[in-house]
Amino acid sequence: MEAIQGFLTNLQPILSLLGIVIGAYLLLLWAASVLWSYRDIRSRSEDVSVQVLIVGLVLLLPFGGILLHMILRPTQTLAEKYERTLEEEYLRRDIEERYVCPECQRAIEPDFVMCPHCHSQLRRRCQSCDRVIDLTWSMCPYCGNDGSTAIRMGSAPLPAYRPATQPHRTEEITR
Ligand SMILES: [Zn+2]
Ligand SMILES: [Zn+2]
Repeated sequence: MEAIQGFLTNLQPILSLLGIVIGAYLLLLWAASVLWSYRDIRSRSEDVSVQVLIVGLVLLLPFGGILLHMILRPTQTLAEKYERTLEEEYLRRDIEERYVCPECQRAIEPDFVMCPHCHSQLRRRCQSCDRVIDLTWSMCPYCGNDGSTAIRMGSAPLPAYRPATQPHRTEEITR
């Protein structure tokens, strides 16, 4: 009986020390949870009253408050929300601008040759295969026609270009 009593009195300081350590650990966890929820809610809401409410909740309800916060917090952070609106804006602009007349900005179909609103030329037909191609393309991507067949079939001015390009090329090499 005396041995047990002695053992218990010896155990007393160890138990109280353990209590202090556990208490300090819980206090640290609680403080960290308050700090974390403060940072978290600031990244998710610009509303100061919401920030105060959340931090107050986590402060007053240790460990329970942080759980509530994680359940109730906005799913998207402000950065994610901003990124998403940017993406949507780009997408919307892309769709809108893809089929718009460059002259009058009104909606057109992608295969229009002329704008039905302002009558400006949007694209041209290939002289060889008759497909609709871009005005800026120097050759037809469908049949390879570069628009010069009409000239080639005529008096053939092609050889006349050759001497002109040769000296220009050597000039570039020596430079
Ligand atoms: Zn137009
Ligand atoms: Zn063609």
